[in-house]
Amino acid sequence: MPISNKPQLQSPPFNINDVKVAFDCPRLFYLKQSFGGDYLFLPQDYIPEIDRAFVDLVNQLINMIRQESKVQVLFTGQFEGLEVGAIANQIQQLFYELIFFPYLQTIITKNISLATCLYEVWQVLIKIIFHITEIIVKNRRYCHESVVFRRTLIKGEIPVDYTFKIPDGKAQKLTGKVNNLIFDFESRRLCVFHFQTYETAEVSSQLIEVALYSFLLKQKKKVPVDTVVYWVLPELGEYYYSWKKLESVVECLVPGKLEEMREWLRWERFQSDPPPRTEKEYLCDICPQRERCQSFFERSG
Ligand code: SF4
Repeated sequence: MPISNKPQLQSPPFNINDVKVAFDCPRLFYLKQSFGGDYLFLPQDYIPEIDRAFVDLVNQLINMIRQESKVQVLFTGQFEGLEVGAIANQIQQLFYELIFFPYLQTIITKNISLATCLYEVWQVLIKIIFHITEIIVKNRRYCHESVVFRRTLIKGEIPVDYTFKIPDGKAQKLTGKVNNLIFDFESRRLCVFHFQTYETAEVSSQLIEVALYSFLLKQKKKVPVDTVVYWVLPELGEYYYSWKKLESVVECLVPGKLEEMREWLRWERFQSDPPPRTEKEYLCDICPQRERCQSFFERSG
């Protein structure tokens, strides 16, 4: 599918999230663009406190690794003498004492039933600590200890955009913001870390979403961008996506979908041929706009 850098713009930009929603369900995409409102498919046993805790703890962990002198001293000396397992264990201990344990106490004082889920959060944090430690140790081969943290853990949110040429020959701009980026000097690659509390309800649309973040970032940074996704519940897990796979996903699936998205938005209520329902019926059971969907598209088929 053709992708071009310099086509003429003809439509307001979409963001990456719009594309994910459109892959999940064309009707939900239409409702979101027309009326706003929720568009996340959250599980029925969704616990907002755990969601907030995971995001907050991950941010605190990355800040601690980047700034805490007791962590930085663990990576000093000759890189050949650095042992990933031993360093990760010490970071784990420091993080537990300085941040996780006080956090745990505050939360379980308010609601003891959250303790089990926080244990799951802790298990994912251990994996993340190990993975980040591994990359920093590898990068010490190429970077002095005084710069390895800021050159490995890239700070801040990076705006990205790209203009696709869609099959009808027109152009569609896509925008997004990427954070939690890690640079691996050995492979000369970036890796985007996605942290989410719940395993996604729809894996294929998540693949599109992470592929787009990688693709747009690659256009800006000019190096391959891999992705790793961590989640906590219902069971902790992780997916790793290589750049090669992500690039082909975007090239095959995105330009055609952008064209469909523009067509769906031209539809008006009570006309025939509305945007189609989701193909994954189980999503309707957890859809945040189910009632509006039923009433809004009622007489359009
Ligand atoms: S109820 Fe089903 S078809 Fe309607 S917007 Fe939600 S997911 Fe899509």
